[in-house]
Amino acid sequence: MVDFSSLAQKYGTPLYVYNFDVIAQKFVALKEAFKARKSLVCFAVKANSNLSVLKHIASLGAGCDCVSIGEVKRALHVGIPKYKIIFSGVGKRDDEIEEALKNDILMINLESEEEMGRVEMIAKALGIVARISIRVNPNIDAQTHPYISTGLHENKFGVDIDSAKRMYIQAKNSAFLDPVGIHFHIGSQITQIEPFREAALVLANLVRNLKSLKIDIKFFDIGGGVGIQYKDEITIPLYDYAQAIFSALQGLDVTLVCEPGRYLVGDSGYFLTRVLYEKHNGHKRFVIVDGAMNDLIRPSLYGAYHEIEAFGKEEGETSLADVVGPICESGDFFAKNVELPRLEHDDLLVIKSAGAYGFTMSSNYNSRNRVAEIALEAGKDRVIRKRESFEDLIDLEKEYV
Ligand SMILES: *Cc1c(COP(=O)(O)O)cnc(C)c1O
Repeated sequence: MVDFSSLAQKYGTPLYVYNFDVIAQKFVALKEAFKARKSLVCFAVKANSNLSVLKHIASLGAGCDCVSIGEVKRALHVGIPKYKIIFSGVGKRDDEIEEALKNDILMINLESEEEMGRVEMIAKALGIVARISIRVNPNIDAQTHPYISTGLHENKFGVDIDSAKRMYIQAKNSAFLDPVGIHFHIGSQITQIEPFREAALVLANLVRNLKSLKIDIKFFDIGGGVGIQYKDEITIPLYDYAQAIFSALQGLDVTLVCEPGRYLVGDSGYFLTRVLYEKHNGHKRFVIVDGAMNDLIRPSLYGAYHEIEAFGKEEGETSLADVVGPICESGDFFAKNVELPRLEHDDLLVIKSAGAYGFTMSSNYNSRNRVAEIALEAGKDRVIRKRESFEDLIDLEKEYV
């Protein structure tokens, strides 16, 4: 059990805390599930891009899946080998493509025919061959929240099978493109195995088809999306997940690539916030805390559920309350209608499963300083990002007034 009370005392609140040992356990479990095949785990940097988190991930042997050149540079900065870095995303700028190519990363995941044209042109200008992969949109419903579902034709991501095939043939005939991979990513927080199985079957068939055209796909990238337990979700057993993919890949000699984000870091993280006030508007009970939607936006953005523990207050009567922040938006809440004990000024709330899409989605809205991040590893705690100051907040503006 982590002593959140002394961490809050030592570092102040609001605060993000990540248990690096949990991240390591998750990584090992995933590699274990995939051990029957060559596999490369590329952590989706957007879930948690703290440099120390990435360095930890690198030490475990993972690569990185990046969706901007900034993320590619973060990965390179902490020593992720270039041959373990993938660049994905639906809208890459020319300068981002150029820099990725110059850095000779493993592959660029393409999401449209036009993008392939840009990559070919830039590779030609640089006089190099671009290793590419194509993100295929298999038109499969991942049965998750619409905002984090990406595998349907109505979503902006990837290309349909026929376009993909056309693109592979075009790439094979280009002197500046080397089609080495195939990719799908159908959504996030997926708790059913069927969408993965279906997508893998569709893409594996395309790989066989391409093989008959002498296009040899080496990397079969199944994206991320494996869900975690926020409330009462039943998550996918990793063994079954791996078996579903393996059975789709029968007879194919490919390296399996996966891009977990939430799965690797979600459970490792806690968001610590202190109670400022209790307030009753008629029958409605509000617990007002020092953290806010700018720090952790998932409840506001997706109506996401995070378990909240009133630390050290396990006993005693509870009643329903909304847990809200100080920001001037009605959408500024962490939970609605949850049972909580009577709380007082300075009581500590621990918001669970906050390691993914927490800090990375944070902002300075309402001129709030971004909070500090702390790592726990082998029983020791350390700062991995210091709390922003007012000086940080105005740093890029002050010379102009
Ligand atoms: C966001 C994203 C991921 C990670 O998704 P999780 O649900 O966090 O595992 C992986 N690949 C791509 C292309 C993504 O956009």
